[in-house]
Amino acid sequence: MFTKILIANRGEIALRIIRACKQLGIKSVIAHSESDKDSLPVRLADEKICIGPANATHSYLNQRALVSAAKITNAQAIHPGYGFLSENADFAALIEDSGLTFIGPTADNIRNMGDKVEAKKQMTMAGVPCVPGSDGALPADSEQVIKIASDVGYPVIIKAASGGGGRGMRVVEKEADLLSAISMTQTEAKANFGSAIVYLEKYLQAPRHIEVQVMSDTHGNAIYLGERDCSMQRRHQKVIEEAPAPGITEEQRQKIGQACVTACEQMQYRGAGTFEFLYENGEFFFIEMNTRVQVEHTITEMVTGVDIVQEQIRVAAGLPLAYKQSDIVITGHAFECRINAENAQTFLPNAGRIDYCHMPAGFGIRVDSHAESNYIVPPSYDSLIAKICVQDRSREKAIEKMRAALSEAQITGIDTNIGLHQRLFEDEVFCEGQMSIHYLEQWIQDNI
Ligand code: ADP
Repeated sequence: MFTKILIANRGEIALRIIRACKQLGIKSVIAHSESDKDSLPVRLADEKICIGPANATHSYLNQRALVSAAKITNAQAIHPGYGFLSENADFAALIEDSGLTFIGPTADNIRNMGDKVEAKKQMTMAGVPCVPGSDGALPADSEQVIKIASDVGYPVIIKAASGGGGRGMRVVEKEADLLSAISMTQTEAKANFGSAIVYLEKYLQAPRHIEVQVMSDTHGNAIYLGERDCSMQRRHQKVIEEAPAPGITEEQRQKIGQACVTACEQMQYRGAGTFEFLYENGEFFFIEMNTRVQVEHTITEMVTGVDIVQEQIRVAAGLPLAYKQSDIVITGHAFECRINAENAQTFLPNAGRIDYCHMPAGFGIRVDSHAESNYIVPPSYDSLIAKICVQDRSREKAIEKMRAALSEAQITGIDTNIGLHQRLFEDEVFCEGQMSIHYLEQWIQDNI
């Protein structure tokens, strides 16, 4: 096992990794920017090392600085958290080439899953169901493209192979718009992601977003930890997540979970990962794989009892998974509310000083947060300041618990979306679990 790990991240996820290290008896070094020097994770890590200015390009995204920081502090491994360099294959390769361990999948795993055309190809081979669409990248020939689209059936969606963060996609309603939409998406994709390769999928009208958490080790073991429903999204950003997904039967869970496990085995996947699906009319359709720990891993931890970050570290150190599939039992129901520093009407990020911060606590309540009274939320980073999570024996009980938890949360001095969450946890459609991926956008239009 490692004796010291460098954390190449900030905020709540840095704190989350520090906690896992402490429990495993591993020293933590946090690599931080100048603007984060007084933050809670920097104070709670065993060691700290400043790697650059507030601008992430020169700090949290500075690969050489991060590897040097690990070398200088004698850390043996680097945990990238989520965001920043967590899905950067070159960073994973640089770390491994420097004789250190990347706490995550292999560079090849990341590269293959980062190319959505390649990812779909591998999923199809493993028997994971995909959204119907073009067989790989779209060809240059217009006649052929028109035929593919009409075979799939309109509406279709054109997607960049290397797209991400909800960008590089365009919905096409009819044949007359197809070719121009393709060329626009290609131009954008080339400019934003450096590759003009695009593919085509059937555009599903009102699916849910359901994702499967997996964990694999380097001894050929892979398990699934059930699923999460993340349909409550605004601009492709998740706002509320829950585990398990409402209405999914144990039989469906096993079937889709086993398909994901097979895919992990075939690609010799290492560590934690998430298979994202659109779910419509009882069917799952793979859209992409995230090769890192996700923000919402917490709710899976609450319903399975598995510490995903500790397992990531153990697996990276070459240890076998501490759990077999038969050990994984889903207990009750959990929700996560992402608390953002943002304006309640405009949703624009709202940096500044938190005058007073009180977060809920109690039985079945978990808050992962680096926020505290007098903390200044810097303008340079993501607006996520806390994750309020609850678990209880049923979805109904968990909703009641979240209402109570939210009523206790107090953050003054900056705007947050706590009020939005309180309203959503009173919304009938959401409380009945009837939401598609478009529901929250529509709700905002109607209610804000
Ligand atoms: P990104 O990597 O940018 O997040 P995804 O492939 O995960 O891209 O898609 C992001 C979101 O776009 C999905 O959560 C869904 O809301 C929408 N989307 C993607 N593909 C489809 C599709 N075939 N039909 C309907 N919506 C889609």
